[in-house]
Amino acid sequence: MNISADIFDEDEGMSDYATFSHGLYIGGRWQPSSDGRVIEVIDPSTEAVIAAVPDATLADAALAVDAAAKAAAGWRETPPRRRSEILRRCFELMSERAETLAALTSLENGKALRDARGEVAYAAEFFRWNAEEAVRISGEFGLAPSGANRIVVDYQPIGICVLITPWNFPAAMATRKIAPALAAGCTVILKPASETPLTAYALAALYEEAGVPPGVVNVLTTSSPGPVTAAMLADPRVRKLSFTGSTGIGRVLLAEAAKHVISCSMELGGNAPFVVFDDADLEAALDGAMVAKMRNAGEACTAANRFYVQAGIHDAFADGLRKRMAALQVGPGTDSETECGPMITRKAVDKIDRLVQDAVARGAKVLCGGTILEGRGYFYPPTVLRDVPPDAVMTQEEIFGPVAPLLSFDSEAEVIAKANDTEYGLAAYIYTRDLARGMRVASKIESGMIALNRGLMSDPAAPFGGVKQSGLGREGGQKHGVAEFMEAKYIAVTI
Ligand code: NAP
Repeated sequence: MNISADIFDEDEGMSDYATFSHGLYIGGRWQPSSDGRVIEVIDPSTEAVIAAVPDATLADAALAVDAAAKAAAGWRETPPRRRSEILRRCFELMSERAETLAALTSLENGKALRDARGEVAYAAEFFRWNAEEAVRISGEFGLAPSGANRIVVDYQPIGICVLITPWNFPAAMATRKIAPALAAGCTVILKPASETPLTAYALAALYEEAGVPPGVVNVLTTSSPGPVTAAMLADPRVRKLSFTGSTGIGRVLLAEAAKHVISCSMELGGNAPFVVFDDADLEAALDGAMVAKMRNAGEACTAANRFYVQAGIHDAFADGLRKRMAALQVGPGTDSETECGPMITRKAVDKIDRLVQDAVARGAKVLCGGTILEGRGYFYPPTVLRDVPPDAVMTQEEIFGPVAPLLSFDSEAEVIAKANDTEYGLAAYIYTRDLARGMRVASKIESGMIALNRGLMSDPAAPFGGVKQSGLGREGGQKHGVAEFMEAKYIAVTI
């Protein structure tokens, strides 16, 4: 059944997109969970239930693995050019329906519409990029050092992949995995986050329309992610786990995958430093700070979590950031004027509040915001704190909200040590007019990604990923993203 036309009927109102619940997407069919249970989806702006999606059981998960296994040989043998054309069609359909998808993402996640539009464009780009990668997968050929034989290396699809994604980028985290997996010739089972399943299901309908054969992409939602994932990983046909989410759950899944020696890619948490040197262009640094902090209202793994500002520019930067943060329009994500939407859950708001109260109790000063906004919806105001002491808990934990803690520093060596004083190593930002210093500091900060005089580094054409407790592997980039879904086969041949 092709339901894409229903979902993307541009004549229908927002509530129609939001309340669709066609079922688990398994083997190209939409079906309820085997025990008929559902998961309610909440609008974080109003706390109202906006939809219900099926709550998959272990039996449903087994069906999804069966479907992925049944489709595996056909997809693996589909010529790369054909796979590429289908991925390209996914890009085109996503681009055509970008406005609808952005509205849906904004509704279920709460993010400001402008952020949702940016996410959908970024998410679609993974299809275009990987359509181009699909036809460029090549092997190796060489003479063995002994001269006795040739070494042939063939890259083959790794097999059935389980993909698990978080709620903060419901479209992009899914396409960043699905597109390279399909380019490599793998079939997949996607388990999106329970808070934001609607975007994942809307995209599933779109893949079908683009020509992705039944069973190549399967999508299931479940309120029992631990047992359901464990059951899928225990199936010997599953060969890959690609996870994006918190470091804590990542560790649990690495242990689970180890039982079955399954290849893992892990995109985990972050604690990005944002370093501003005295010689930085102040306005450019403030522009960058707003993007690095406030994209997605701070709910991003790459979000600037600690602002280290050199003493000479500190007060001017603090004042500029306070003005910009205090001026932001807070409201429901779907309102076109909104610049800072709600947090995903009440629990998320409470965590932000706990971190802010802790910093204030240790001596931080509130320049703006700093208290939970009363009323319905999970709102927290844009907040700037200065004189945050190094022992404040927020310097070690992800804030995941619209809070900018400022810490002052004097020397280059000091700020490098401070930036690296974290278990994480995903993203870092540096502002300086001295390019040599920028490159020197970039090379010394322990991080998978650095933005130098920029507030944004994500790009499907660049390798995304972290070091230390921020993860294993890379997504996107030239060859990196697809390589995560392939295995090298070596053939020794005498000619
Ligand atoms: P999370 O709690 O770790 O959940 C992520 C996903 O894992 C969700 O689909 C969740 O399902 C599922 N999950 C939870 N427990 C599981 C288990 N025992 N077994 C299998 N799956 C399980 O993370 P989150 O709160 O959604 O996302 C925020 C985190 O993601 C932050 O730490 C952020 O930094 C990180 N993140 C990292 C990147 C990156 O690229 N490095 C990108 C985005 C986000 P349910 O929703 O059903 O619980």
